[in-house]
Amino acid sequence: MIDQDHKNMTFAAIRKDQAGFRITPNLADYARACAEFSWQSVERDLSSGRQGSGLNIADEAVDRHAAGPRALHLALRWLGKQGEVLDYTYADLRRLSNRFANVLRGLAIGKGDRVFVLAGRIPELYITALGTLKNGSVFCPLFSAFGPEPIQQRLAIGEGNVLVTTDTLYHRRKISELRESLPALRQVLVIGGGDMTAPPNTHSFHELMHTASEEFTLAPTDPEDMALIHFTSGTTGKPKGAVHVHQAVVAHHITGKYALDFHPDDVFWCTADPGWVTGTSYGIISPLTHGITSIIDEADFEAERWYRIIQEQKVTIWYTAPTAVRMMMKAGTEIIRKYDLRSLRFISSVGEPLNPEAVMWGQEAFGMPIHDNWWQTETGGIMIANYNALEIRPGSMGKPLPGIEAAIIQKRKDGTVIELKADAVGELALKPGWPSMFRAYLHEEERYRKCFAGGWYLTGDLAKKDADGYFWFIGRADDVIKSAGHLIGPFEVESALMEHPAIAEAGVIGKPDAMIGEVVKAFVSLKKGYEPSEALRKELLGHARSRLGPAVAPREIEFQSSVPKTRSGKIMRRLLKARELGLPEGDLSTLEND
Ligand code: ATP
Ligand code: MG
Repeated sequence: MIDQDHKNMTFAAIRKDQAGFRITPNLADYARACAEFSWQSVERDLSSGRQGSGLNIADEAVDRHAAGPRALHLALRWLGKQGEVLDYTYADLRRLSNRFANVLRGLAIGKGDRVFVLAGRIPELYITALGTLKNGSVFCPLFSAFGPEPIQQRLAIGEGNVLVTTDTLYHRRKISELRESLPALRQVLVIGGGDMTAPPNTHSFHELMHTASEEFTLAPTDPEDMALIHFTSGTTGKPKGAVHVHQAVVAHHITGKYALDFHPDDVFWCTADPGWVTGTSYGIISPLTHGITSIIDEADFEAERWYRIIQEQKVTIWYTAPTAVRMMMKAGTEIIRKYDLRSLRFISSVGEPLNPEAVMWGQEAFGMPIHDNWWQTETGGIMIANYNALEIRPGSMGKPLPGIEAAIIQKRKDGTVIELKADAVGELALKPGWPSMFRAYLHEEERYRKCFAGGWYLTGDLAKKDADGYFWFIGRADDVIKSAGHLIGPFEVESALMEHPAIAEAGVIGKPDAMIGEVVKAFVSLKKGYEPSEALRKELLGHARSRLGPAVAPREIEFQSSVPKTRSGKIMRRLLKARELGLPEGDLSTLEND
């Protein structure tokens, strides 16, 4: 129940022994860093203005290092599905992204034009992203698993001028048919499977790259020029197209330093796909601005493959998502013991609430907790984090990073906003002004405007702040359950269920009820070795009642082989609810198909 205190601490705080750090954390003195912080000084640390050309994300990510002592440092190591390995230094990335920028220029694609990519995690995607930004064009990644309709919708909303895709996806997703309804789409570049032939009315990506020059003069970009379009995950409804500008790189950079603790010798692995904002902000941009090495794995999740990658690549910092953590928990800790994972020094997670159970499982499995952090497509970068030096309170998202002002607010009927006191539940709000804040929702001005009130950006998430400044996620405003006068956050119920050894995943909804408003219903999937049965259902109901009390515990539990999730791994409670109530399922473009 969110208006009581019992949710906070099921598990004891995890203190960080300063002597136990292999490297001193970047954010060791939080109070001082917050007091001394200024965005201007971060921007000055970057090379802005180096070429008299304002600020450009790709310049900060690649050229800055290619022109200095890190030119030959490994920037990206790509691991192919079939065991291939390709390495790219900063100098390589400079040359290749220059080539792609020249390709665009040769096709008369210029500043502000939108370049979409529909591809798996292949090197061409990364080169396209960086070359696009150098050219002053706008990069928009799509999930490669999208079907023709979501692709068409996003290209139409984003007014895509160029689509870069693979030969296979071009045919499978029927791109030639989609083009008829996309008048803005002038050029399609196809990445072939070895040869340089391309389907009619398209260009061969590799042929154009082959003939393009390696020298390119950066297109002058202003910090406020549009750089990225990211579609939201579609967890709560139809995805929105969030617009980000070049200045976002200032936030990408400093959050990598503070929240992910990047140091020069780190080998970083962000498991997110660039089709989701995490895979671009932290899968491409942030680590490159620090001149460190990133691992890219083309393949999808498979527990042993992942542990092998950490062992072989000596990954030091690992950024993943709660859904992946839950899958690893499902696979068990025995297989982890087969691998030497001692290179790891920091593990972090984003995208959904990280159940306290999962934070603690990190301790058992990897000898370190998993550090939750919170942000959104709209915020462009990490805002609230369990940074390395912070004492962890399992279940909390941590504290706002230096430069970020966060509060728990309540919007009154007259439109004014009041800040709530410690431990009160309200909407999580941020003070606008951080560089990676979205600048628009494409074609939805009114919706954008409504996100701001009383000098705050309203996130649509409910949370509370404790007396020590830790933020605790309660739920999305849309998901909160009202039952017999109580407000219940589904996360709290899901976390309690997750504490039971049989549960792999849980999704909780409110089901309309004439007597008490809504009753709590849980959908659960089971770990290996457990089978659905009446006896187990009763046991789970009993476990939840003893953990949460009868007012909050689910009245119903339904077994499912898996809980529906978005492609970025978020539980789609709205879909569970629609199915339960026999209502239209709404936009399913981001639904992951198991
Ligand atoms: P849509 O806006 O289309 O419904 P979405 O909100 O899931 O989709 P994203 O921008 O990818 O799209 O996700 C941001 C949201 O994810 C946050 O607003 C929050 O609800 C949730 N989230 C992200 N990180 C965390 C976290 N660490 N703890 C709890 N919730 C989180
Ligand atoms: Mg959202």
